[in-house]
Amino acid sequence: MSDRAENLARAADILRGAKHLVVFSGAGASAESGIPTFRDVDGLWQRFPPEQFATPHGLIAAATRMPHRAAEFVLALLEPIAAAEPNAGHRAAAALERHTRVTVVTQNIDGLHQAAGSTTVWEVHGSAFNVVSLAGDPIGVVPREQMRRVVADLHQAIEPEFDQAAALQAVRPILSFEPGGGRRPNIVLFTEAMAEPAWSQACAAADECDCMLLVGTSGVVYPAAMLPEQAKSAGADVIAVGPESPGLCDVWLRGTSAEMLPALVKAALGE
Ligand code: NAD
Repeated sequence: MSDRAENLARAADILRGAKHLVVFSGAGASAESGIPTFRDVDGLWQRFPPEQFATPHGLIAAATRMPHRAAEFVLALLEPIAAAEPNAGHRAAAALERHTRVTVVTQNIDGLHQAAGSTTVWEVHGSAFNVVSLAGDPIGVVPREQMRRVVADLHQAIEPEFDQAAALQAVRPILSFEPGGGRRPNIVLFTEAMAEPAWSQACAAADECDCMLLVGTSGVVYPAAMLPEQAKSAGADVIAVGPESPGLCDVWLRGTSAEMLPALVKAALGE
């Protein structure tokens, strides 16, 4: 048996016996849906340093001092998310619910696990589609179709020449600094606390599960990266799927999410 077949068989055995599985996903899980990871070469952080664009104060300062760059950042962040559809990895994770209890804990803000049919999804870094007031009170959910229109309008406001008023109007359904009407997507920026109640639920699931399946996460973004450590020390088996091993795992399935998750589900459950 090759190493790959052996690892797949070991992981399939673990998965078959799982009574409560936590699927813990990171940016890599959505890479094959066309949403680039942030940290990789040419990722978002190369073009838009997070200390300038991805902290609350940084983003407000950028919007005031360099509105054109801030608009380009918002477009670069939201365009791939608005356009995305779930991939075979998201669908395989959803299919696992037919066999055991599954809790999805995701660091992603793209809504793709829910779009693929997963029913219990905790978004610990928030969601691009949930709009809140600047104080954090819920305002509403923007459907993906509306997000696509925001992106199309923002494109028109930026190209061929930047029109600041048109850019502000374009993002108004999701982002506005107007006094009394301020709003933003409920995304956890650097320096902000994890999204609640998602984070508390994710910690409880990590303590309680007997298997954690890591998908497309580097394990360097804290505090989210504590969850696999927590599950491991509470006695769970940890399986990892991705091109690089995140270190702490019992079995590593080397490959992409859309390739390896369906293979794992087929090996474990025959579908
Ligand atoms: P990260 O630190 O979790 O790293 C991504 C991991 O995915 C890397 O280990 C990489 O090797 C792996 N990977 C790449 N392609 C893959 C594939 N096809 N299949 C499986 N694994 C693959 O993520 P990051 O990019 O540094 O992002 C940091 C944070 O930014 C995330 O935790 C998230 O909150 C946010 N983010 C969200 C999205 C999204 O919503 N889709 C995308 C990028 C970043």
